[in-house]
Amino acid sequence: MGYYHDNTIIYLNGAFVKAAEATTDYYSQSLHYGYAVFEGIRSYQTAGGETKIFKAKEHYDRLKNSALALNMPYSWDTNELIEATYAVLEKNNLQNAYIRPVIYAPANMSFNPNNESYIMIAAWEMGLFLGEKLLRVMTSSFQRPNPKGFRIEAKASGHYVNSILASQEAKAKGFDEALLTDMNGFVAEGPGANVFFEKNGKLVTPATGNILPGITRATVMEICTELNIPVEERLFTTDELKQADAAFFCGTAAEVIGWQSLDEAVFPANWNDTLSRKIQLAYKERVTAAALVREK
Ligand code: PMP
Repeated sequence: MGYYHDNTIIYLNGAFVKAAEATTDYYSQSLHYGYAVFEGIRSYQTAGGETKIFKAKEHYDRLKNSALALNMPYSWDTNELIEATYAVLEKNNLQNAYIRPVIYAPANMSFNPNNESYIMIAAWEMGLFLGEKLLRVMTSSFQRPNPKGFRIEAKASGHYVNSILASQEAKAKGFDEALLTDMNGFVAEGPGANVFFEKNGKLVTPATGNILPGITRATVMEICTELNIPVEERLFTTDELKQADAAFFCGTAAEVIGWQSLDEAVFPANWNDTLSRKIQLAYKERVTAAALVREK
């Protein structure tokens, strides 16, 4: 998939510029040390035909919190960034899209703090993934970063080296995706998604502390409340997970995607008969629900 063509427009520090003509500094602290934060956001064509950025405010609030957690200066206003994002979508004729804001650092080869940060917002076409085949998941040999060594609840670029290693390992071994444990060996999350399992009419998801608390995870919990499905947030092991009726990943890009197996142990329930499938359908309805006003 091409992320851009010569006429693609990005938002760069207050201006709309052609991606092909935009420049950055090769001495940026972000490039050398992974010192940057980002978001992954989606927009959808609603049932009414308009474009809606799903949970825009939640994502931009998290972007700000991620930057502040890393001591990066942050001076942007969430509503202005949401408007800028809608403008990026319009200028690129996008409705179903993936949106990638990045906050990055100026040229600085030391570890000292900076007086300013920069922002870039790009977007590219991304269709609905729901209903794709169930995933074959592998427990990774890589664990998530120790929260005592990182700001694990921040969406920091440097953390994603861990995600890349785990995902590459799983795919090299013929699996679709990796599942990572935390430093104590409890189930944490996927390289870019949170995890839930279903057992006897109840859902269970890892407690916060060693994970990125996803916006989709929160949406799934909202849906569970509405559907009267009990959810527990607690620690559990891969052994317990393998005894589940069903399991799924959830994240902005992944949406809600069911698992076929973990480490070749197949989940016994028929996906279409599970509560997880009901949640998947409710999620799909929610992201494409007609919006009379823009969600901010
Ligand atoms: N965990 C990790 C490590 C992620 O990168 C993501 C994707 N942002 C998630 C969980 C899911 O978060 P969200 O639902 O906010 O996209």
